Amino acid sequence: MTDNQKKDWAVAEIIDWTTKFFKANSILESRLDAELILSGVLAMKRLDLYLNFDRLLTLKELADFKVNIKKRIEGLPIAYILGKKEFMSLTFKVTPDVLIPRPETEFLVEEVLRVSRNMEVFQKFDINSKILIVDTFTGSGNIPISLAKHLNKILYFIYGIDINLKAVKVAHENSLLNQTLRDVRFLHGDILLPLKIFSLKGMVDIITANPPYLKTSVLSTLRKEVKCEPKIALDGGEDGLIFYSRLIDQALDYLKVGGYLVLEIDPELNFLITEKLELNGFGEFNLIKDLQGLDRVLSVRRLS
Ligand code: GLN
Repeated sequence: MTDNQKKDWAVAEIIDWTTKFFKANSILESRLDAELILSGVLAMKRLDLYLNFDRLLTLKELADFKVNIKKRIEGLPIAYILGKKEFMSLTFKVTPDVLIPRPETEFLVEEVLRVSRNMEVFQKFDINSKILIVDTFTGSGNIPISLAKHLNKILYFIYGIDINLKAVKVAHENSLLNQTLRDVRFLHGDILLPLKIFSLKGMVDIITANPPYLKTSVLSTLRKEVKCEPKIALDGGEDGLIFYSRLIDQALDYLKVGGYLVLEIDPELNFLITEKLELNGFGEFNLIKDLQGLDRVLSVRRLS
């Protein structure tokens, strides 16, 4: 598909060509990626491509398509090319300023929904004070927005916090996109510290976090797709634990006794994180495995 080739391309034909081209360049989901990129360029659902196999691409569409397949070959993840990612059956805008939401993080959301139901039992008697959930390291806002979509608006208020202002902007756009602006408020700052001005010390019912948890030493070994994601969202310091430690310290200031901390974890760090939590007065551990059978989500309760 060189520039001087004067050729009309039909949908079916360009999908086949690109699939082969991607395969030759070791892209795993070659056909899927080709179809997704084309459906993005044609602003068409992927399955509708099948109803339009003979449709010819305009020159503009062809040019846009070429730009995008080049990006994919260079290693840019498909979610950044399309500018969106599905999470908990919702659509989130993503840019290279935010981590691409992962399916395993859906287990965290499910666990928060479970502990929330426990909370509701106690809160029922006091409808005036809402259950307060704070998502730290919020990135695209996928966690608080999914929670807001599933929880009863009358009973909850949710904050999402991120240290990267560009991420906070993306999260806010996602809230608009998913119609949760009234239920979720995004703040800019370090872990839980922005809550200080709202006098929320000791007031939070549930804190959630999918912190950066990769050891700094593994960052250079990651696939080129993952290397396109923000380092700040992945790098957990020398031992991968830096942000768990800082989160636990700050949680002691902001979480209610009896409140829950729900964390995504690196399966290898499970033991060290559990130990740290026990030392700081947390108990009632619940460990959830991901689809690969690895320990992935840990929820704990502040006992003292
Ligand atoms: N909360 C976002 C997610 O789970 C981003 C996490 C992060 O940036 N480490 O996808």
